[in-house]
Amino acid sequence: MKVLSIYGKFGDSQLLIGEQIGNLKKYLPDRKIIVITDTNLNRLYGNRFSQFPVIVVEAGEKTKTLETLSFIISRLIELGADRHSFLVGIGGGVVCDITGFVASVFMRGIDFGFVSTSLLSQVDASVGGKNGVNFLSYKNIIGTFNQPQFVICDTEMLQTLPPEEIRSGFGEIIKHALIADEELFAEIIDNQQNILAFNQSFFTDLVYRNVQIKATIVNRDEKESGERKKLNFGHTLGHAIEKHSDLSHGEAISIGMMFSAHLSAKKGYISQQDVEKIKMLLNNLGLPTSTNIDRKKLADAITKDKKRNSDFIDFVMIKKIGEAIVERISIDELKTDILNYE
Ligand code: NAD
Repeated sequence: MKVLSIYGKFGDSQLLIGEQIGNLKKYLPDRKIIVITDTNLNRLYGNRFSQFPVIVVEAGEKTKTLETLSFIISRLIELGADRHSFLVGIGGGVVCDITGFVASVFMRGIDFGFVSTSLLSQVDASVGGKNGVNFLSYKNIIGTFNQPQFVICDTEMLQTLPPEEIRSGFGEIIKHALIADEELFAEIIDNQQNILAFNQSFFTDLVYRNVQIKATIVNRDEKESGERKKLNFGHTLGHAIEKHSDLSHGEAISIGMMFSAHLSAKKGYISQQDVEKIKMLLNNLGLPTSTNIDRKKLADAITKDKKRNSDFIDFVMIKKIGEAIVERISIDELKTDILNYE
């Protein structure tokens, strides 16, 4: 097991990569513990946490709503939760995002931790203290910054993850490589056999390196006033695509990253050859790089991006593979680029 830390303004977070769900108890305080999980995790791993009261939500993105928040809070009250209770979210990004949010607002905030179970949540969603729910058609528009006390990334649990969810996780992994780690990008190209064969030690190392990238950025800029914006690479168009399709988060940002790579080339930062290299890797990993969604719908969705700052958006591009740059681009320019994007 390897341990990394995030030093948050209101508390630190221990990130335990390669730790196992069987050791969860070691990290729990001697208080009332309540588990929040989804239907899939409860079916597959419910026997590993049956000693605790469990609140089960439906699996999937549609669960990230205020209605689910109300449901969980009603159940917490029924279970006699109080200000000293401790919540454990066991699941992927959806369970972690909603558990962190419930813990932040229930009784004005109670302590919480995660067992992060999907590749996407281990490398990204469960790390960094952002949480929240979607509202109307706006993604993650309600939420807080609040660090979990611990995040257990049990890479053995990835073995039960459906292949499409492994693919989705690679969306965020390639994002990290593109914005911060050229070597990681090259290694993923060279290790496609280990990926396809699900080599456990390769995956544990991969999760560790990704958590390291994210934790380093979050430690420098927890509240996204500067450097953390780089983590939004591919997400402006990606979120618009998620809104208008059934694609997973990783798939949607894969297409978003391709668009951002094209813009990076258009601005003269990277070569057309780099763009092709990125496209080939994403395709080899089974990720989509284009969409038929009506460009007008996507351009309109951009105007509703929560990262918009009046008529501008801080848009993330890559200066080269392994280095990101954030540039203020007018919404009108971005809309035109999207309308003309093939
Ligand atoms: P998810 O939580 O819906 O998990 C994907 C699917 O895999 C679900 O059906 C889940 O039940 C299943 N699953 C999870 N772990 C499993 C396991 N070990 N075995 C079998 N099945 C398992 O989605 P996700 O891809 O983990 O996360 C996506 C969410 O994360 C999105 O809502 C996105 O907005 C959010 N996110 C948040 C942040 C952040 O910083 N807070 C960053 C990136 C993404």
